[in-house]
Amino acid sequence: MAGEPQTDCLFCRIVAGEIPATVVRESATTLAFRDINPQAPTHVLVIPKAHHPDAASLAAAEPEVAADVLREAGLVAADEEIAGTGYRIVLNTGAGAGQTVFHAHAHVLGGRGMQWPPG
Ligand code: 5GP
Ligand code: ZN
Repeated sequence: MAGEPQTDCLFCRIVAGEIPATVVRESATTLAFRDINPQAPTHVLVIPKAHHPDAASLAAAEPEVAADVLREAGLVAADEEIAGTGYRIVLNTGAGAGQTVFHAHAHVLGGRGMQWPPG
């Protein structure tokens, strides 16, 4: 059920402490940790603690938590000192767009120049 922990979900297991992660921020509703395969000098994932399959599903079910994720993404950028130079928040949605973990997450990427359009 949406919002409930999923035993087979990697990010639910990180929230539960069953899989280690380098946590950089935590709030009542969110967790932010470094991506295991960073694509930029700063690459942090911000996730809702509750399980939702993607960002749009999260926003539909718990809009206040979707707002928490975006606020925490901005706070990560400030903590990492990339807010001034600019950073990217990415919400891959669906396998065709590169989503591989089906627990909503925002990538916060910065510390290098970014290209447009994205690949
Ligand atoms: P997606 O491709 O779904 O948008 O993003 C999933 C991200 O999770 C990828 O950037 C991938 O490197 C990261 N990831 C996958 N497994 C782990 C893990 O066990 N720990 C951490 N910290 N990140 C992971
Ligand atoms: Zn999950």
